Amino acid sequence: MTCPICRKPADPRYRPFCSKRCADVDLGKWFGGDYAVPSDDPADIEEAVEAATRATQKPH
Ligand SMILES: [Zn+2]
Repeated sequence: MTCPICRKPADPRYRPFCSKRCADVDLGKWFGGDYAVPSDDPADIEEAVEAATRATQKPH
């Protein structure tokens, strides 16, 4: 099984994700609404992950 966010091998603790970060990103998709991976390019996916991660973080 691979992480649906970044395609790395999934961690059993966070399956189907590889990490809490990717689980949070998936959660952010539902909160953010307009989250989308622009392409299959790893750099673009990483960028989308970063954007979604920021979207899930509360401002201080
Ligand atoms: Zn991942």
